[in-house]
Amino acid sequence: MNFVVEDVFAQIIKGEAPAEIVYEDEVVMAFKDINPKASFHVLIVPKLDGLVTGFDVHAENLDIFGRLFLVAKYVSDLEDLDTYKLHMNVGTVGGQVVPRVHLHQLSSDYAPNLACSAATDLVYYEDDDTIAFSHEKPVCEHHVVIQLKNPEFESGLDVRETNLEEFGNLFWVAKSVSQQLGLDGYKLFMNVAPKETTSHFTCFHLLSPDYKTEL
Ligand code: AMP
Repeated sequence: MNFVVEDVFAQIIKGEAPAEIVYEDEVVMAFKDINPKASFHVLIVPKLDGLVTGFDVHAENLDIFGRLFLVAKYVSDLEDLDTYKLHMNVGTVGGQVVPRVHLHQLSSDYAPNLACSAATDLVYYEDDDTIAFSHEKPVCEHHVVIQLKNPEFESGLDVRETNLEEFGNLFWVAKSVSQQLGLDGYKLFMNVAPKETTSHFTCFHLLSPDYKTEL
């Protein structure tokens, strides 16, 4: 996986390059995207070096990946966003440009959207907590829905300090399914909305690289 740019986000984290920081804790930083694709667009970035792409998720760092969802929720509180969209490009083949894990958080005026899907028979992965199945109306060659089974986790807004690993596991299952499918890269998407406005469970979309987006 050859990235052509350097890790500019490392310099921002160290305070050596400018950025409009909207949130920071010991583990994660969120700052405005320099080339926004919506009225609000931030990048949520882990501070730990060595997390280059979504392929770097493993059993020992699920909490860091889960924290990306938690920080998105914190940012939405700070910025008064009711709903937002999360997007991640994984690997250069998946459209990733900067070689450090980053989750895009965009306001709902970011046009691309994906509907949730009822469960289908084509199940790629299942354990006690999580299920991954093919979307009933795929928008690209491989379109997989990853869901948490716990009915308490209805929306991306249900992430807490106490369930970071469960949410981080969504990234791990995405990696695992992508490997089953032989994908060298992929894209991830989640629409985060209050329960009252949505009838479905947390839906994490895994999309093959042929899915076209602005990001
Ligand atoms: P990706 O294509 O998913 O790797 O996204 C990289 C994102 O980083 C793009 O949306 C760029 O606009 C953004 N970006 C690149 N350099 C900077 C920077 N110095 N400060 C803030 N955002 C940046």
